[in-house]
Amino acid sequence: MSKHAVLSASGAHRWLECTPSARLEENFEDRPSESAKEGTLAHAIAEAKVRNMLIDPLPKRSFNKILKDFTNNSMYQKEMDALTDEYAEYIRGIVLSYAQKPYIAVEVKLNLSAHIPEGFGTADCIIISGNDLHIVDLKYGKNVAVSAEDNPQLKLYALGAVGEYELFYNIQTVHMHIFQPRNKDGGGTFTTSVQELKAWGESIRPTIEMAYIGAGEQKEGSWCGFCKAKPICQKHAEKCRELAKLDFKKPELLSHEEIGQILQTAKDVASWAKALEEYALSEVLKGNDISGWKAVEGRKTRAWTDMDTAFKKLTDSGISEEILWIKSPLTLAQVEKEIGKKEFSALVGDMVTTSTGKPTLVPDSDKRESIKLKAADEFKEESTNE
Ligand code: SF4
Repeated sequence: MSKHAVLSASGAHRWLECTPSARLEENFEDRPSESAKEGTLAHAIAEAKVRNMLIDPLPKRSFNKILKDFTNNSMYQKEMDALTDEYAEYIRGIVLSYAQKPYIAVEVKLNLSAHIPEGFGTADCIIISGNDLHIVDLKYGKNVAVSAEDNPQLKLYALGAVGEYELFYNIQTVHMHIFQPRNKDGGGTFTTSVQELKAWGESIRPTIEMAYIGAGEQKEGSWCGFCKAKPICQKHAEKCRELAKLDFKKPELLSHEEIGQILQTAKDVASWAKALEEYALSEVLKGNDISGWKAVEGRKTRAWTDMDTAFKKLTDSGISEEILWIKSPLTLAQVEKEIGKKEFSALVGDMVTTSTGKPTLVPDSDKRESIKLKAADEFKEESTNE
C-alpha cells in the first residue's frame, strides 16, 4: 500500500462531486497545517485513553507517564485533556449500551481497495456487538462542522470495516459516529443497514473510476474549501468573474435579493483571494515569476537574545521590576482552556454570566435561530440617532 492513495477517503466528499480534483491535487505539495498537527496529537491521546479505559488497562503510574509525555509535545494544550476524556466517555457510553462487553478496537487500519484503487484508511474506534457495528471518528478541528449524516468518508470506512469483520460477525446494521468536541454544530450518528451501505458502495463505482483517472467535469461547491488546487483552479476563479458579471437592474439601489446574492459570492471570493495570495507568495519565493508581484521582507521584529540576563542588567542598574513586567489577567476562555472545562465548571462555573451576543449576519444554512430587533429596541435606536 502506498502512503498516499490518489483517492483519499477523507477527500471523498470532494472527489465524488468534482471528479478531476484528486488528480489536479497531485500538482501541489502536501503541507500539514498546524491544526492537522494538533489533531494528530489529540488522536494519539484519545487512543491511549480508550485503550487504557476499555481494552488494555495499564498500571496507574505507567499510564500517567504516557499522559505526561504527551504534555511535552509543542502542540499540547490543556483543553486536549478534557476533550479527549469526553471522547473516551462517549466510547464508553456505546460500550455500556450492550449487556455483554463488545469487541473494541482502536486505530484500525482498513483496507479500502475493494472500493477505491489502492485505498486505505484508519478508523479511530470500532465496536462490534451482536449484529451492530459502530465506527467512531474523532474530528478535532473546530472551524468546519462535520456531520455524520450520509458522510462519504465514514461510509467508505464502514465498507472497509464490514469487509474486514463480516467473516467473523453477522453484521447487519452500521452506526457511524462523528465526535467533534470543539464544534457544537458538527458530529452526530448516522445509522444504515449493511445492505444499503453496500448498495451505495456499488452506486459510486463509476464515479470512483472517473475520479481515479481524473476524468469528468470540474464542479465548484462547498467541497472546494479543502482542495489543494483551489488557489489556481479555473472553475473556482469563475465565481469571481460571476460577481463582476452580475446584471444589476434599475433602480440605482441594490434590492435585498441582490444583496444576499452578492454577500454569498463575496465571501467565497475573499477566501479564494487569500488562498491565491498564499499560493503566489510560495511561487515567488521559489523563484517563479508572478506577473506584477514580488516578495519582500515583512516588518522586522526585535527580540532578546537572553531576556533573563537583559532584565537582570536593567534591574541591577536601578530600573524597577514594575516597569519591566505587566500583570494582566487571562480572559475567561483562556482560563478555561488552561485548566480544562470540567475543573473550570466545578471551581468557578457559577461565577460566569453570559451576555447576549452581538447580532451577526450568517447564511440561512447556519443552525442558530434567527433573531430580530424588538419594536422597543428599534425605537431606542431611532431616538439615539436623532
Ligand atoms: S477547487 Fe473545487 S472546482 Fe476546483 S478542482 Fe478543487 S474541488 Fe474542483
